[in-house]
Amino acid sequence: MSRAEQVCKEVMDKLQIKSKHEPEFLQAAEEVVESLAPVLEHHPEFLDAGIIERLVEPERCIVFKVTWMDDQHKVHVNRGFRVQFNSAIGPYKGGMRFHPSVNLGIIKFLGFEQIFKNSLTGLPIGGGKGGSDFDPKGKSDAEVMRFCQNFMMELYRHIGQFLDVPAGDTGVGAREIGYLYGIYKKIRNTFEAGVLTGKGLTYGGSLARKQATGYGLLYFVDEMLKDKGMSIRGKEIIVSGSGNVAIYATEKAQELGGKVVALSDSNGFIHDPDGIVLDSVRQIKEIERGRISEYVKHHPNATYQEGWKNIWGVKADIALPCATENEINEDWAKKLVENGVILVAEGANMPSSPEAIKIFHDNKIMFGPAKAANAGGVATSALEMTQNSMRLHWTFDEVDQKLKQIMADIYKRASSTAEEYGYKDNLVKGANIAGFLKVANTMLAQGVF
Ligand code: NDP
Repeated sequence: MSRAEQVCKEVMDKLQIKSKHEPEFLQAAEEVVESLAPVLEHHPEFLDAGIIERLVEPERCIVFKVTWMDDQHKVHVNRGFRVQFNSAIGPYKGGMRFHPSVNLGIIKFLGFEQIFKNSLTGLPIGGGKGGSDFDPKGKSDAEVMRFCQNFMMELYRHIGQFLDVPAGDTGVGAREIGYLYGIYKKIRNTFEAGVLTGKGLTYGGSLARKQATGYGLLYFVDEMLKDKGMSIRGKEIIVSGSGNVAIYATEKAQELGGKVVALSDSNGFIHDPDGIVLDSVRQIKEIERGRISEYVKHHPNATYQEGWKNIWGVKADIALPCATENEINEDWAKKLVENGVILVAEGANMPSSPEAIKIFHDNKIMFGPAKAANAGGVATSALEMTQNSMRLHWTFDEVDQKLKQIMADIYKRASSTAEEYGYKDNLVKGANIAGFLKVANTMLAQGVF
């Protein structure tokens, strides 16, 4: 075993013990650390500076109590989190997730991924993530507002435009960001627009931010296909989820000539062989905050099936998991391959298990990992920060063009790095290594502390 392999093993062995109750974080760390041995062979200085061991430990984890009252005046207590993982290349940056499954391990996994994703965008942003086990589903606007206000009563001490800039994620959309920003402004008595991103357009938000993760995913897919002499036109596509990422991924896929035939939510999935009518989905999910099953009432050719994971049994050319982590396991990956899928790209964070990714690679399926393919959201958040600092608004087209260029650059960086290190066509390795190099070199330049 080389020195580099030995160090990677020791770091992971220690982490397995220290983080044994954080399986998602271990899964994310394992994938990255496993990719790095060949890089470390060429860079003994990273080993001397203990970069790997320092990288897997968050700079700061904040866990706090959030007490709030529902409409019946019943008191509830939730847990809030902010993990400030790495600030080598810029202020911590990453979304906040409100979902009952949230715990410290989930936020650490997301924050860890964010370090490399943010580095890949080429923009000056470090890695962080936050959230709560609060479930906004079924709550009134007043309840969501009271929760957000109480959440910010603690979080405000830990964030700032030059320190840590949260954004949305699952369960945190325009409504939640509005409430969070409103109370931040009140507590701080200052209009510090750059402290949060995903804001409304009337108070410092950026055009194209809400579309950015979904659109960016499709720009990335377009680059992957172009590289192999193909295009999205005429391809049948499955998109899981029906939230922010899924809706705008569907919109851009349709615009580029693809046919999206299936979408899901946490209860089940719809299959429309005629192609999903997005206006109906928007009406149900964005306006009525209803269930995806209602779609079939308006579209008699479509079918609904309970069990959200069954979406991966639908036959298609392209699969875009855009709901949550570990949606595609080994069996579903095999099913996708059997059904003739040619490309899988991740809109959600870590939606494919390591076994599933291996199946895709073994079968020469083009595979776009989350930290490259879904980086459009955070990249556009960084563009929102830039506009806030300049006190200017760019047009939709200006932001969209920049996003397109950023996604094309990320694709080039990940694929050329993969090739340089002997992993041609393996974008997992390429993205991990390219993201790592910038952060590691910066940590080295900034010294050991
Ligand atoms: P939303 O809350 O807008 O939508 C999430 C969708 O996924 C909903 O349809 C939801 O179903 C479904 N879903 C969520 N959790 C689960 C679960 N545990 N099991 C089954 N279905 C689930 O979130 P986003 O679209 O913003 O985020 C989706 C994914 O994309 C997440 O992994 C997120 O981290 C990632 N991401 C988001 C970015 C952004 O800019 N928003 C940026 C980069 C990554 P239901 O409606 O039933 O709850």
